[in-house]
Amino acid sequence: MGLVVQKFGGTSVGTIERIKNTAKRVIAEKKKGNDVVVVVSAMGKTTDQLVSLAKELSPYPSKREMDMLLSTGEQVTISLLSIALAEAGFEAVSLTGWQAGILTENVHSNARILNIDQTNIRHHLIANRIIVVAGFQGVSENNEITTLGRGGSDTTAVALAAALHADKCMIYTDVTGVFTSDPRYIPTARKLGAISYDEMLELSNLGAGVLHSRAVEFAKNYNVPLEVCSSMVNEDGTFIEEEVQVEKSLIVRGVAFEDEITRITVFGLKDKLTNLSGIFTTLANKNINVDIIIQNQTDGENPYLSFTIKHEDLRDTIQLLESKQDELCFDHFEYESGLAKVSIVGSGMISNPGVAAKMFDCLTKNEIQIRMVSTSEIKVSTVLEESYMVKAAQLLHTAFGLDVVEQQV
Ligand code: ADP
Ligand code: ASP
Ligand code: MG
Repeated sequence: MGLVVQKFGGTSVGTIERIKNTAKRVIAEKKKGNDVVVVVSAMGKTTDQLVSLAKELSPYPSKREMDMLLSTGEQVTISLLSIALAEAGFEAVSLTGWQAGILTENVHSNARILNIDQTNIRHHLIANRIIVVAGFQGVSENNEITTLGRGGSDTTAVALAAALHADKCMIYTDVTGVFTSDPRYIPTARKLGAISYDEMLELSNLGAGVLHSRAVEFAKNYNVPLEVCSSMVNEDGTFIEEEVQVEKSLIVRGVAFEDEITRITVFGLKDKLTNLSGIFTTLANKNINVDIIIQNQTDGENPYLSFTIKHEDLRDTIQLLESKQDELCFDHFEYESGLAKVSIVGSGMISNPGVAAKMFDCLTKNEIQIRMVSTSEIKVSTVLEESYMVKAAQLLHTAFGLDVVEQQV
């Protein structure tokens, strides 16, 4: 007998019919003789609707109150699914994040899981109950309800799978697996049979919303066998694992993209070393994630610095830079919103020079201006105007041979 963690996203529990369908999948796993821990998201677009309600009252509601509000979404689903399971004759118990022992850092809206106290879950497992846990939420050491960031139910599932040494963690969603790019925007994207933890981590970090990046981090660090598959179609999904046989001709495995990027440029840095650490420490202390960083200095001139942030962090960033301008010793700063990041990812890049050149060539030939670039061993990212994002992604998808191959008859 094994232990399986199953996670169902918003669409998969979006209606009562779908909750019944989800209950069937849970029961099928239980009937195989496994212990089952289920993690669910809020129904359908509930989280977005709750955000909109708060925004009707205030443009910048407190993060603590937003966590209190958004965590209710998942709570609705856990009870409904447990009721459906009981109705089908299976003993189930719903647990909120704190009841499931999910302890997080004391940060609102984007907390990391620090530890999982398994006492309560183990107690219910011994009693042979199906456990239904609310995704996306935890509790801090100050007894505050916290949330893990949008899409964070994946992380709840994988963290639980790691802590409980589950035999597998299944992420059921509204697509049949991880594709070479987001199939909602790139019609020629195709499903990957398998992908390595490292490549998946890059894709998730670079905007592929199919898996929360911290979920992939947990899976990699604790070697959790992970599969992304459809909650509606019965077919194998995508396996995320340590080593994956790369299709020989494919250097790039996927194209990811992300909108709502803002570039900040800080001019006239007077004391290079202290400014750099000062600026980034100040931002990090406020939990503002900085992405691509470029620093430039030509002899005899004060250096300048550009970096990107998510647009939602712009207000806090402006406030911080304005209030600490003297302390951080710079002349002035500017920002540009309406940007996007388009990236190619693939572990085959390490041994294949010229990938970045091909990417820039493809974009430039199509008159798409590149504003910033960042590279690592297995990815190249470009920042460009938001309006070109999908076009650029499609062009790169085709240029790197990722399109669906027409079947020869
Ligand atoms: P869930 O509610 O099940 O967590 P999400 O909306 O968070 O579902 O994630 C699934 C969505 O991720 C898909 O509908 C798809 O549009 C998007 N997506 C983005 N990149 C990819 C990718 N590379 N492969 C598959 N889906 C992707
Ligand atoms: N309900 C949350 C969201 O919509 C968490 C999740 O679905 O993973 O972001
Ligand atoms: Mg999701």
